[in-house]
Amino acid sequence: MQFVYSCYLIKHGDNYLLWDTGFAPGTPNTGPKESIQDQLAKLNVKPEQIKFVGISHFHGDHTGQVNAFPKATLLIGKNEWDGITSNPPAQGANVKPFEGWIKGENKVETVALDKDVFGDGSVVILRTPGHTSGHQALLVKLAKSGNYILSGDAVHFHENLASDGVPVFNHDRAQTIASIQRMKQIAKIHKAKIIVQHDERDIAKLPAFPAGAM
Ligand SMILES: [Zn+2]
Repeated sequence: MQFVYSCYLIKHGDNYLLWDTGFAPGTPNTGPKESIQDQLAKLNVKPEQIKFVGISHFHGDHTGQVNAFPKATLLIGKNEWDGITSNPPAQGANVKPFEGWIKGENKVETVALDKDVFGDGSVVILRTPGHTSGHQALLVKLAKSGNYILSGDAVHFHENLASDGVPVFNHDRAQTIASIQRMKQIAKIHKAKIIVQHDERDIAKLPAFPAGAM
């Protein structure tokens, strides 16, 4: 099965949150043909308009273009941040693009639990550790299209989700199973669709760029 990756731009009033940033352009075999910056330009959104960059976890396929948004406040799991900034860094942490935040030039907010990003319950970071120890997912409530949970890498495919199957490249099996079940429970309560970010079939449930769900 093809393993794809996806990023999400969320508009809240005049503010934008970018969720995950994919591989960096130029990454051998897997880099995108077009950068997020170039894609945003097609929507007339400038990088400095991105108020928050939310990161599900520190792996390279989610963090490759973080450095294109130095004006954004980074919203990252506390344990991910600790893994990026420890010496030596945690295994699998993609440290380089975070340099501006590590040096203290850019703003970072570490997230230890859940976080209501805009304070109105419409965009909520969900603590879902397991894939990595500071992994997080995102609940998004849209005015017209309903509610969605962006999975990060809590699961990699539908099949994991259905069976509580733990993906490979995993940090903590028990945490992952608890996080998958938590995500499913929250989806049930909020009648949310779970979008598995690496699964083409799920990405296809949302309008393709440059269109968007309202
Ligand atoms: Zn991933």
